[in-house]
Amino acid sequence: MEMRHLPVLIVGGGPVGLALAGDLGWRGIHCELVEQTDGSITTPKMNEVNARSMEFCRRWGIAGQVHDCPFPGDWPLDVVFITSFAGYELGRLRRPPRNVPMNQTYGPERLQACSQIWFDPILRTFAGSFPSVRLRYRTRLESFEDKGDVVVADLTDLDSGARTRVTADYLVACDGANSMVRQALGIGLTGPGVLGHPLNLFFRAPNLLDACGKQRGTFFLGIDRDGLWANIRIIDPTSGLWRIMAFDSGGRTAENVDREALVRRAVGRPIEVEWAGVSTWTRRSAVAERYSKGRVLLAGDAVHQLSPTGALGMNTGLGDAVDLGWKLAAKVKGWGGPELLASYDAERRPVGHRNVAMTTQFFLAQGRHAEGLAAIDDGGDDGLRLRAQLGEQLVREVGAMFQTIGLQLGYRYEESPICVPDGTPAPPDRPDDIVPSARPGARAPHLWLRDGRSILDLFGRGFTLLRFGADPPDGSGLAAAAAACGVPLEIATVDEEDAGDLYECRLALIRPDGHVAWRGDALSGDAGEIIDRIRGA
Ligand SMILES: Cc1cc2nc3c(=O)[nH]c(=O)nc-3n(C[C@H](O)[C@H](O)[C@H](O)COP(=O)(O)OP(=O)(O)OC[C@H]3O[C@@H](n4cnc5c(N)ncnc54)[C@H](O)[C@@H]3O)c2cc1C
Repeated sequence: MEMRHLPVLIVGGGPVGLALAGDLGWRGIHCELVEQTDGSITTPKMNEVNARSMEFCRRWGIAGQVHDCPFPGDWPLDVVFITSFAGYELGRLRRPPRNVPMNQTYGPERLQACSQIWFDPILRTFAGSFPSVRLRYRTRLESFEDKGDVVVADLTDLDSGARTRVTADYLVACDGANSMVRQALGIGLTGPGVLGHPLNLFFRAPNLLDACGKQRGTFFLGIDRDGLWANIRIIDPTSGLWRIMAFDSGGRTAENVDREALVRRAVGRPIEVEWAGVSTWTRRSAVAERYSKGRVLLAGDAVHQLSPTGALGMNTGLGDAVDLGWKLAAKVKGWGGPELLASYDAERRPVGHRNVAMTTQFFLAQGRHAEGLAAIDDGGDDGLRLRAQLGEQLVREVGAMFQTIGLQLGYRYEESPICVPDGTPAPPDRPDDIVPSARPGARAPHLWLRDGRSILDLFGRGFTLLRFGADPPDGSGLAAAAAACGVPLEIATVDEEDAGDLYECRLALIRPDGHVAWRGDALSGDAGEIIDRIRGA
């Protein structure tokens, strides 16, 4: 039997596994990813790549590809509440098209509509572009054993049937909600669990909006006498690919559902469509009891299962991948200390709980609009009044799940053992607003530099020591201490006037994932202690 040794074996080639493989490749680390399918996506789940994920893509040099994905740049991302496409529009939350500049202050990137049918291949090409990364499709992890000094894994090539045994320093399970690895490790899930059994129907109807006299939008929520019952999203306006997500399958399966009836309910009249697929799935709200055990680490849906209300599932998983990427690289390269990988669970599990809790709240808000809707389709004054009042209420309450910049960017590693707290109070953590903060553990806040770059563009593959002001403090002590341990650290001087105020310090040490590890006005004390702490030694 063939026997090879790998620094990192990744199980699962969904977006999270691909992002981790890409991040490791970008850092020059050898890894192999195994995915049991051929990677093709027939019924996409994810459609929104959020602002933080876009910042990751920007660092990897692929943000342009996401911007340029086939979703038209002039198509409004509006969220619209309707009784049906042919019926009434109750309310509209405006979200401008990609081509309209927003001059947002929170960061250099904003959320993009980019379905998994385009995003996964972008990640796949990115990861596959590194000679140190091997992507093996149609290959399944059958079993594994953590031997303490190494993980032994048995793989099957599903085309030839050939079995392979490999050893790896680390195994990372990105194997989705039903994670075989999580179950084999006996790691349980906490939280409410199953929230429902929705049904997704995919079809092509290129002129649906025009035919029904509706303005363009991307995300439509259907509400009728029985309450909010579905969201209807245009995945690809060019080919007219739509998805109806009926919130409750009513016990129906993909095989026996009356799909025509559901399309009629959404459209409000009979319509011919070209069917592109039907699938059922389980809406869950759960977080794993732990994110790692020994040499096995878990990421993405394997450890957190979110209701898609809020579009945070994959985006949270990408955050896991980026947190893990530099830490695994540090271990493989030798400068990561013995406690470094333990910080992964300490940092990312609280984020999992935060995002799962919020998206569950968004889901529950959808169910609160089911009473007193008998007049919703009435042409008279009663109907008019009800729709006006309901529209305002829906935009405010259900629309909250689309106003999540704080959720996207404001997560912080409060209890991190590898950040150095500075005693300042935590800024509020609001879903809809981001308070820029360089408090250790936070995402380093953005500002534009004179040369047109974002300060985020200064952060490289290693640590970055930012020195602020026209006469910045000396950072050489920290650089020397880092060099002594092999920790990659670059110094950048930022003399834009507002930078030091934004960061509330004159020196800030930024981690390879763009989070603040330490800040101060000068180096007081032992630089070696700071470096040891941030590398988990
Ligand atoms: C309807 C819907 C809409 C959504 N919209 C959004 C959105 O807009 N934004 C967002 O961020 N999230 C969204 N999500 C959530 C998002 O799709 C998931 O969070 C994301 O796909 C999880 O990625 P993953 O890589 O962790 O897992 P998966 O995508 O589930 O990938 C796991 C992979 O592991 C493979 N695998 C499993 N076991 C093995 C094995 N033993 N050997 C080899 N391979 C294995 C599987 O084949 C699979 O390809 C949505 C979800 C749904 C259901």
